[in-house]
Amino acid sequence: MQYIKNDVKTILEKIKEVYSLKTDTDLSKKLGVTKSFMSRLRAGERSFSPTKMREVEALLYAKQIITCSYLEGGFEPSALDTTSVSPEMRKRIIEVVKGKCQLCISDAPFKDSSGTPYLIVKPLQEYEMSTSSKLTALCPNCSARVIILKNPKDISLLKSFVHL
Ligand SMILES: [Zn+2]
Repeated sequence: MQYIKNDVKTILEKIKEVYSLKTDTDLSKKLGVTKSFMSRLRAGERSFSPTKMREVEALLYAKQIITCSYLEGGFEPSALDTTSVSPEMRKRIIEVVKGKCQLCISDAPFKDSSGTPYLIVKPLQEYEMSTSSKLTALCPNCSARVIILKNPKDISLLKSFVHL
């Protein structure tokens, strides 16, 4: 077995290599995607759908190759992750809100390995909707909702919480 990085460019080059494909046109045919999709994929403008990704992984697996992102060690911090809040502060805030999301007032979807309810704790300014440094504790759904919808009502609701 060979392990490779779970990175689109690495994956595409590997498939070309192990299936002896000379051009991106051959590669597109092999993967059942259009050539323009392939260009966008290479440019980082598109990604494989989960179904297509499984097909791609199966193609590699057939040649005894496994794509493994976790072998690289550590994940890139995503837009949803806490960026500037210390672990201690995060824990304290989650205690203050009793493990409940401040927008939907639901319990955190799960607890982490230390038993702390999983909520995303960030200052409002990190949602780029406000200059307020007031901290928010949100479930992953609501955090994504704030980022995607940029709804001023959500932000003013969050600002109204006085205890954080
Ligand atoms: Zn929520």
